[in-house]
Amino acid sequence: MPLKIENFPLLPYNTSSKNIAKKGVVMLPKICFILPCYEEEKALPHTLPKIKEKYTSLIEKKLLSSQSRILFVDDGSQDTTWQILSQASETDPTIMAIKLSRNYGHQNALLAGITEAYQQGFDAVITMDADLQDDIEVLDDFIKKYLEGYQVVYGVRSDRSTDSFFKRETALAFYNMMRFFQVPLIYNHADYRLLGRSAIEALLAFPERNLFLRGIIPLLGFPSTEVFYKRQERIAGHTKYTLKKMLAFALNGITSFSIQPIRLIILSGFVVSMMSVVILLYAFFQKVAGKTVSGWTSVIFSLWFLGGLVLLSLGVIGEYIGRIYLEVKARPRFFIEKRAGKDLHEKNSSR
Ligand code: UDP
Ligand code: MG
Repeated sequence: MPLKIENFPLLPYNTSSKNIAKKGVVMLPKICFILPCYEEEKALPHTLPKIKEKYTSLIEKKLLSSQSRILFVDDGSQDTTWQILSQASETDPTIMAIKLSRNYGHQNALLAGITEAYQQGFDAVITMDADLQDDIEVLDDFIKKYLEGYQVVYGVRSDRSTDSFFKRETALAFYNMMRFFQVPLIYNHADYRLLGRSAIEALLAFPERNLFLRGIIPLLGFPSTEVFYKRQERIAGHTKYTLKKMLAFALNGITSFSIQPIRLIILSGFVVSMMSVVILLYAFFQKVAGKTVSGWTSVIFSLWFLGGLVLLSLGVIGEYIGRIYLEVKARPRFFIEKRAGKDLHEKNSSR
């Protein structure tokens, strides 16, 4: 007798035994919202009630299990961020917070939150900025996509009009540069994304120190999709991504994903060698013609040009060797100093 598909209930992708109650009813997903915070004392008083309100509405809409939580990661802030977070977690059992031992940077703060959520047994995580520039109104779409079976949902900015001219232009230059160096990136996607448990497990199998999440996630595979949103203005406070941090971020992206710069050095070496044959011929004929003294300009130019090229090439190679050095040492990617919240135990750990 042929199998009658319509007799089967429609189940979401993650139909692991623990997501299906005994009577075959699908349980609501237990999701952890992760917000990294670096010196966000100005933004948090606005962010906390807003995210909580959204969380409650998602539970009312039956999109979320009431065991879902909001996890803040304090990335070694020097201001009162931790006091605000620990206080919030004391009064509200749905809020949890971890404090990293120092400022490890946005990417490692995200990883710390994802690791913590994974260990707490959440079905999925959604990462977003603590300044709520990532529109939380589209969280419904993220969860719906997850329930349809997607393990990775990328939040993609459809509009950057609220960004400053400088931010827009640097972002455009960033994407163009990444494309040039063949780093796999989702255009206009930052770190607003949902990751299902299987995707998290795959992500945590990447041991690299120089973590560039936006490049790694597309490498994980798994069913993935996009959710579009309009980027909001920063709720309060100012950007923590200084030009220096942005440049370091772009450099990390390139060196952790591409050996294209080294290939460019090989190419320029090849071109310069070809040129030198022409110069040799030129020098030879100049000598035969008895005009050797007139070559000063070309000599001084090639001296500086080649000197610059050699130094630049050494720098690029040095940069990669530096990265190898950092990876080989395999230092922990973060240390958690404190945890706060009803569900979190007071213990210290590292990755
Ligand atoms: N952030 C962090 N560690 C850092 C820098 C930033 O955890 O060293 C957090 C910050 O608190 C925010 C998010 O990363 O939640 C994005 O930073 P920001 O909003 O300053 O960057 P922008 O949106 O301007 O690019
Ligand atoms: Mg921001």
